[in-house]
Amino acid sequence: MKKEKFVIISNDAMVYDDLEYLKHKFAFKRLMGEGAVVKTLRSIYPTVTYAVHASMITGCYPDKTGVYNNEIDELCVKNSDWRWFRSFNKCKTLLDAAKEKGLVTANVFWPVTGCDKNIDYNIAEYWTQSGNETIFDAFERAGSSKQVIDEIIRPCAHYLVGKERRHPYADDFVFACGAEMIKKFKPDVIVMHPAGIDGLRHSTGVFSDRVNDMLDHTALWTQRIIEAVEEIGEAENTNFIITSDHGQIDVSRWIMPNVELKRRGFIHTDEKGAVTDFDAFIKGVGCSALVYLKDESDKKTYDAVYSALKEMRDIGIYGFSEVFTREEIKQKEHLSGPFSFVLETDGYTSFGSEWTGSIVHQRDFTDYRGGAASHGYLPDKGAQPTFIACGPSFKKGATLERRPIVDLAPTIAKAMGLNLPDADGKPIDEILR
Ligand SMILES: [Zn+2]
Repeated sequence: MKKEKFVIISNDAMVYDDLEYLKHKFAFKRLMGEGAVVKTLRSIYPTVTYAVHASMITGCYPDKTGVYNNEIDELCVKNSDWRWFRSFNKCKTLLDAAKEKGLVTANVFWPVTGCDKNIDYNIAEYWTQSGNETIFDAFERAGSSKQVIDEIIRPCAHYLVGKERRHPYADDFVFACGAEMIKKFKPDVIVMHPAGIDGLRHSTGVFSDRVNDMLDHTALWTQRIIEAVEEIGEAENTNFIITSDHGQIDVSRWIMPNVELKRRGFIHTDEKGAVTDFDAFIKGVGCSALVYLKDESDKKTYDAVYSALKEMRDIGIYGFSEVFTREEIKQKEHLSGPFSFVLETDGYTSFGSEWTGSIVHQRDFTDYRGGAASHGYLPDKGAQPTFIACGPSFKKGATLERRPIVDLAPTIAKAMGLNLPDADGKPIDEILR
């Protein structure tokens, strides 16, 4: 029997509502017409890209993966490095399982994959860290081999140089690299993560003409990926999975809850505004926020901070309508980590991590948390992520309403004959042949 191939594309922030538009475009008409659809996936909490993608590729919730934020746990800074590297994810991935069976693995921009030894051809989602380095330096640090840099990244570099994290240019790079990898290396499984739909939603709102332009762009590039598979003669033998991580909601305020913590004496600064000491610090995660304590064993401070947060929630002007303790949110959403509380948006506010200036900040469209729309909220809110699977492993015409997003990896693993024994999710047998 011929070994089947898998092309897995996560279009960041694509939602089920988009399929109404996309189903008229050539690539999507075909994939939806000949494949199976799970209309909506229930994402994990918080609905942020790195946390969700770690759960999508492992089938595990954040209390197991250890990926519960894009950023690392650095406190008393406005922005931190992101969890770019594979070492942040504590669970076995679909790509680990594929490599165990000797399959050829490839990646373009799937989050939390930097320096992943089980990806043969790897371009991790990563970017230059200073003006002095090139994209080639950056991708080498994130684990791209010399062969990948010379044969894939260099020929596609014109899409990305000077345009990192800008859309649709960065997406042209992702799709172009993906098509080239398929043609050159013929991987058994390739994962890809373009983020243009997400980018346009952040800057123009959840639904807009610019978002639709990006959907057109996505449909055209999806067709080019299908053509790359046809070119190597594997069309009949390949399963295409098109999915996404979360939706977004329109937000009208960007709030810095640390400003209020400082006013209440939980954060101390010098005359220049630098933090000199703190009892509590809040990291904004878009439409939710993680509250860290300097010393969680100090019961008096724990109680004082918890009581201040509940008071702020009840006053109603600080942008959050729920305060969860770590124990409550682990029970409710399988979310845990070194923070003590989680704040959930009131439905129209997103949060940053700054502690100076006014509590309501000017929008910052360069920050995923500070634009016209955002995510990070509880997973049942807003437009929902979706899932299409088309190919020899999947039932034509099977349509399901809703499944947990942690079912994604176990479903693909079962189709590939692989094993993810520790996954929280289950294979979606109704769509498998
Ligand atoms: Zn995302």
